[in-house]
Amino acid sequence: MNAEALLEIDTVDVDIINYFLSEPEISHSRVARRVNKSQPAVGARIKKLEAKSLIKSMYGINLSKAGFTIAFISLQAMNPDKIIDEMRRCPFVINALRLIGQYNVQIWLAATSIERIENIVEGNIRSVDGISRVMMQVWIEPIGDLVAPVNLNMEHHLHLKCGPDCKNLAKDHEFLRGYLDCTAGKNKGGSKDGELLEKQFNIDLDDKLIVMKLQDDPSITFSLIGEQIDKSQPAVGARIAKMKKRNFMAFKRGVNFKTSKDLHLVQVSIAATDSSLLIESLKKCEYILFGFKTLGEKSLIAYAGTHSIEHLEMELDKCIRALPSVRALETSVVVSCMKDLVLPYQPAHECFVCNYDKVPISKGEQAIA
Ligand SMILES: [Zn+2]
Ligand SMILES: [Zn+2]
Ligand SMILES: [Zn+2]
Repeated sequence: MNAEALLEIDTVDVDIINYFLSEPEISHSRVARRVNKSQPAVGARIKKLEAKSLIKSMYGINLSKAGFTIAFISLQAMNPDKIIDEMRRCPFVINALRLIGQYNVQIWLAATSIERIENIVEGNIRSVDGISRVMMQVWIEPIGDLVAPVNLNMEHHLHLKCGPDCKNLAKDHEFLRGYLDCTAGKNKGGSKDGELLEKQFNIDLDDKLIVMKLQDDPSITFSLIGEQIDKSQPAVGARIAKMKKRNFMAFKRGVNFKTSKDLHLVQVSIAATDSSLLIESLKKCEYILFGFKTLGEKSLIAYAGTHSIEHLEMELDKCIRALPSVRALETSVVVSCMKDLVLPYQPAHECFVCNYDKVPISKGEQAIA
């Protein structure tokens, strides 16, 4: 079955999805004009696509460009759900996935430094009962963009104690610059760890609040944010534009892989002889949603979206396994995500980019042959 049939969508829906992916801020009326349908008709289609989790709007940090240190921690765990539950309130966790494969849990961390990441792994992850293997993959080069909400108050937390006992995450927005004891929920005064993050990313407290509010509710108006932080609407708009322009924050639309019932996310780990060449191919491939280069034997990690695992396996043969620099390729299927995961999936049955590169003949000729 092809993607459209499985998702119960038609070519107009696919066009709408593609317009939103290439231009996330496009207005509904512009989309209506481009697909040559009335605005109410397109509005109804968008509602339907949103209900299917095929279009979700979100604000987040552009993790591929903002400058955070990012590490994906893969675990072999006896009680994966318990670990994921314990990580739920850690402010450094971008997401936590359950996988089928050599590792069954993967925790995505973003922090201001590699030391922070190491502390979290040592203090909060390695020490948990029932974990037999830990693999830490630090990003050294992004492939495509990963945009996800990040708790910009992360530095206010005592990361070693953050977790189910953290009393402050619920009232995040009231957090100011104090150094707080997460478990006691009171300001201990003294040092100002929050300023570390502000300095590193060249933002101030108001920028931070704006980002956090947009992440919580992408449909909040600039004027309401302005009221809440005591700034004018144009001032809020200017700050948002500036943060977008320098690729710190982004507005995205895409499939929400946490809630989609029909689509699957697959992790692809590749050992390559020439990784820079392969990165260029991965960036172009229509199945690859994002990825990164790391150290180690399988140094390229990418994530692909599909309506059918079997179909994707066959497509990966053509798109990636066939490339001369690929030495080994391993896939793991993502079973679930802890948080929303919005990625630029487009329903495709064939990767025209990779196929075009390798087989420069038209589909008609192929059919005859
Ligand atoms: Zn198919
Ligand atoms: Zn905390
Ligand atoms: Zn491809």
